[in-house]
Amino acid sequence: MSNGKKIMAIVLSCILILSFLGTAGCTTAGEDRESDTEQMATETQANEVSIADGKYEGAGEGLNGEIRVAVTVENQKIKTVEIVSHSETAGISDAAFERIPEDIVKYQSVALDAVAGATYSSNGILEAARKALLQAGFTEAQITAEVDKEEKEEKEEETELAADVVVIGSGGAGMSAATAALQEGSTVIVLEKMPTYGGNTIVAGSGYNCADYERQSQYEMTAAQRETIESYLEMEAENSWMQEWQKEIRQDLEEYDAQGSTYVYDSPALHAIMTWIGGDEEANPELVDMLCRNAADSYEWLTQLGAEWVDGIEAGNGALWQRSHTATTKYGTSGGCFVEPQKEAFDELGGQMYLEYKAEELIEENGRIVGVKGVTGSGNEFTAMASQGVVLATGGFAANVEMRQKYNTIWPDLGESVPTTNPSSSTGDGIVMAEAVGANLVDMEYIQMVASGDPFITPIITNVAFVNSQGERFVREDGRRDEICEAVLEQPGQYFYYIMDTHTTVDLLDGMTIHGFVLDDIVDGEDIIKADTLEELAEQMGIDPDTLTNTVAEFNSYVDAGSGDPLGRATFGSRIDAGPYYANRAYANVHYCMGGVEIDTQARVIDNEGNVIPGLYAAGEVTGGIHGTNRLGGNSIADIITFGRIAGQNAAAEQRNIANES
Ligand code: ADP
Repeated sequence: MSNGKKIMAIVLSCILILSFLGTAGCTTAGEDRESDTEQMATETQANEVSIADGKYEGAGEGLNGEIRVAVTVENQKIKTVEIVSHSETAGISDAAFERIPEDIVKYQSVALDAVAGATYSSNGILEAARKALLQAGFTEAQITAEVDKEEKEEKEEETELAADVVVIGSGGAGMSAATAALQEGSTVIVLEKMPTYGGNTIVAGSGYNCADYERQSQYEMTAAQRETIESYLEMEAENSWMQEWQKEIRQDLEEYDAQGSTYVYDSPALHAIMTWIGGDEEANPELVDMLCRNAADSYEWLTQLGAEWVDGIEAGNGALWQRSHTATTKYGTSGGCFVEPQKEAFDELGGQMYLEYKAEELIEENGRIVGVKGVTGSGNEFTAMASQGVVLATGGFAANVEMRQKYNTIWPDLGESVPTTNPSSSTGDGIVMAEAVGANLVDMEYIQMVASGDPFITPIITNVAFVNSQGERFVREDGRRDEICEAVLEQPGQYFYYIMDTHTTVDLLDGMTIHGFVLDDIVDGEDIIKADTLEELAEQMGIDPDTLTNTVAEFNSYVDAGSGDPLGRATFGSRIDAGPYYANRAYANVHYCMGGVEIDTQARVIDNEGNVIPGLYAAGEVTGGIHGTNRLGGNSIADIITFGRIAGQNAAAEQRNIANES
């Protein structure tokens, strides 16, 4: 019996015993109790109305497992609601834990709306409280009374905000911009439309791409990887950027060969060439160069602020090279490392964050963006004025089906039925706001799909084979995301499995998934399958065991040789041979918008005529032009941190520029 079921059994038997004894003051083991005399007195009194004073516990199901709640009842009123235990993901569920218990007491009801962005945690708390209150003797009707919405929404709020820099959006780009501006001495406000900060970034699973000799020099470069580099050097240079990158790589390789080196070579130039060619030469090479030359510095900045990384270096899904740094789950999720370090610095430096403040319209005065108007979660209108600059960091539009349909020309269908990895907040608001003040939009048709599961263990592919429902490999796992997804859509049932051994699943993140789940708790025999042997794994997957073992044996032979894969794989880690084995079912999901607001290398927004829009900056997924047709896995985090910092620093420099001009 699982722990959750055991606890429920205790609660149920407790209810039965107590109803037999004719008392309602049920408690579970280990709970603080008032003295017996006091308890008896209150119970006698309350028995008359059948709601007994006391402290009651209940359990509900959250996102990651059970949530236990203790409710104190006094004089037939809900006095306190406390969280006893839970395994929810920090950051994502914080707003539910803060708000739901408080609101249950305030409205004396569990008929409350879930906190947006933390639906499962909210519902788990409400369910746990409901069960505890039923034990106290409340009837369903008493605790599910309609909350007076009018009363609920009456809330005193600040509606006239002002700071040097106003940042819209609290994902990785927004928090990097805000922190960088604070570090430059500006005052900063962050507006966030959701009740929690972190956006899509905090649930991101991807790694952080940058060349890193210290880590990469621990690995042998495969013959196929060397061929990959040579193939980039043989390409005809389309422009001077490409020529420069090729020149740098050639010079490096001369030295590398002269020293008899055999490690995985990398450099900002190789990163840049792969990013640009990987996006079919559609990106702005200036932006690509800026990203790749600054990615290592931004990585150091983030690390100094508190981000932690697992040892070694991996190839993320679609990363094309072994340069993805994997964040630990120090902050609950891997994505926490791309937001929380900046948030801590932001708080220390006096930044002000306004949650449930949705920006709707940029304010323009004499051709300059000077602030933003919007509406709060309670319906109050607000303005936030910026004396230096406004930074748009509102993310992409992968969760906005209308926009997906409007711009998509690449995929057969991106309608309602196509899943997305993004939270509901990714609705492209910043793109609409920027367009309304004349910003130029670029590459809008390039919408990325990625092959991932729900739940998902990890996007790392270094020691992973992809097999279809027949147990056969069908695509190189280290290839481009668009090519992988095109191949997935051609497979029977349009799904496949990540096949992994214990190196990738258990060793890498200490048995956690990138989203902060304890892996073994979410094995369900369908989306996540676990078995000690490959044969058993195949049986659970409904696949012929011989086919799967042969597929993995062949895969392992390419790992041993470091080449020879007929599907063209070039990156190999270790063999898949250390049980237990896991299979993670995966699909093609709408994941990322390469297109968005045009910016220059200083993160200034460009208008339809090629001019800078004064006072307006943009960073992160709201921007376009950095990734071309196809973004490399692991480049997004490097992008949002790098351009977030650039935007924050430049917005913070504005006042000085204006002062200098006058
Ligand atoms: P990035 O990776 O570019 O930082 P994210 O998706 O992680 O993007 O973060 C974008 C954040 O912006 C999210 O937290 C989202 O809720 C927030 N956001 C989006 N639109 C608005 C808006 N109109 N007003 C305030 N915040 C917004």
